[in-house]
Amino acid sequence: MAGKIKIPQCPQCGAVNEYGYCSKCRCRCEMISRDKRQVSDNFTVVDWFSSRSSAGLIVEDTTGKRYPIYMSDVFAHIDGLKLGELTLEETKKGSAYGWKVIVKEAA
Ligand SMILES: [Zn+2]
Repeated sequence: MAGKIKIPQCPQCGAVNEYGYCSKCRCRCEMISRDKRQVSDNFTVVDWFSSRSSAGLIVEDTTGKRYPIYMSDVFAHIDGLKLGELTLEETKKGSAYGWKVIVKEAA
């Protein structure tokens, strides 16, 4: 049982609009409750996102459809994953210190 999820859906055209407004019909969406969907496929990491409230990875299925996954869930999945041999270099972004992966030129 995956349970239910509340999503904003346009009462006129039925489109799901994440931000609660249908730009096609120029109307506010109403919150509807439907069964959560599940997708099984082979996923590839293709991008990442970050906003004030969250960050994570964008993964793509074999048909090219993209799904944002929150970092906490990504981490739960890759906890302990070995990245192989890497060279890291200290870096500073604004006032934050961190490390970046150095890509070595092929000889
Ligand atoms: Zn609409």
